[in-house]
Amino acid sequence: MSQTPFVPESKLPALGTTIFTQMSALAQQHNAINLSQGFPDFDGPDYLKARLAYHVSQGANQYAPMTGVLPLREAIATKTAELYGYKPDSNSEITVTAGATEALYAAITALVRAGDEVICFDPSYDSYAPAVTLAGGVMKRIALQPPSFRVNWQEFAELLSPRTRLVILNTPHNPSATVWQKSDFAALWQAIKDQEVYVLSDEVYEHICFAAEGHASVLAHPQLRERAIAVSSFGKTFHMTGWKVGYCVAPAALSAEVRKVHQYLTFAVNTPAQLALADMLTAGPEHYRELPAFYRARRDRFVQALSTSRLKVLPCEGTYFLLADYSAISDLNDVAFCQWLTKEVGVAAIPLSVFCADAFPHKLIRLCFAKQEATLDAAAERLCQL
Ligand code: PMP
Ligand code: GLN
Repeated sequence: MSQTPFVPESKLPALGTTIFTQMSALAQQHNAINLSQGFPDFDGPDYLKARLAYHVSQGANQYAPMTGVLPLREAIATKTAELYGYKPDSNSEITVTAGATEALYAAITALVRAGDEVICFDPSYDSYAPAVTLAGGVMKRIALQPPSFRVNWQEFAELLSPRTRLVILNTPHNPSATVWQKSDFAALWQAIKDQEVYVLSDEVYEHICFAAEGHASVLAHPQLRERAIAVSSFGKTFHMTGWKVGYCVAPAALSAEVRKVHQYLTFAVNTPAQLALADMLTAGPEHYRELPAFYRARRDRFVQALSTSRLKVLPCEGTYFLLADYSAISDLNDVAFCQWLTKEVGVAAIPLSVFCADAFPHKLIRLCFAKQEATLDAAAERLCQL
């Protein structure tokens, strides 16, 4: 006997399926070249794949320690010391998570209490706000403006309140492809130093930075890192987004709180993948050291291929995304334009307005260039017809 099912009142009533899932599905449906969702159409290093197979064959198939396997935490500590001049303690300050997404969620859940205010910078990555809402927090957004998307620190100071608990930033920034400079971190520190405010620094593209001064990590700032949770993702670094292994670095007291959430969100992360990543970091650090040059070549090829199109390409200082202004081509809004582009032109892209709470009237789309040269050339050829 069937009963009328209950329909729960949604805790996230305004939320639908992510734009990445939507656009990838549309791309597939229309057989379009998919430059929307950010993932490479090539594989990661053979050595990494071989090490995964090796560890599976050796029986490393049971639960990993809750915080991550020790060789991986040690390799992360070594890499962090090399890059940012600070060696976190591998036992108490590094936690391996199921992708950066889990680290972000665990950090927000651990830190944000009901009524707390969380400052973020729009356009902002789509996973932050739902986690803040579920924790009972209130989003306070600073709308960054193209083409530079720089933070106005006066505006930031005005938004700061006694209820501010957390600031969420992302550098190199998805989707704007801009980066924070050391001076931005210095300004952030000046603004929050006298208040109990924490920083969640999403640095998943830390190794895909083209800026002359390199990636400015929160971990390189001696005072800020005492208040910060820095998040990264091996999916981006090793071209393996499907492995979903990430991590966060934070002072012991903050890590302890993040781990309380992590242990009941996933408990532990895929064991053989962690061991393989530890081997890869130790045996092949040149992979991440050479990543900027690897992606710079793809960026430059794609920009060059688009130079005869009517798209106006914005500067790209980091990430594997390129922004393009299509106002010379169409009056459609960005969501409608991306749908049209996918269905009629055969190139899928991401509209920018979906990353903003306020109206974002700019005619900008995001194109992912983590693709084989042939894919980029084919996409550019279609875009140049417009
Ligand atoms: N933050 C940003 C800015 C991202 O672009 C992504 C994924 N593209 C993530 C977090 C999530 O990373 P992961 O796939 O490791 O969960
Ligand atoms: N972060 C990826 C992007 O920006 C997508 C990740 C996802 O699909 N959840 O395209």
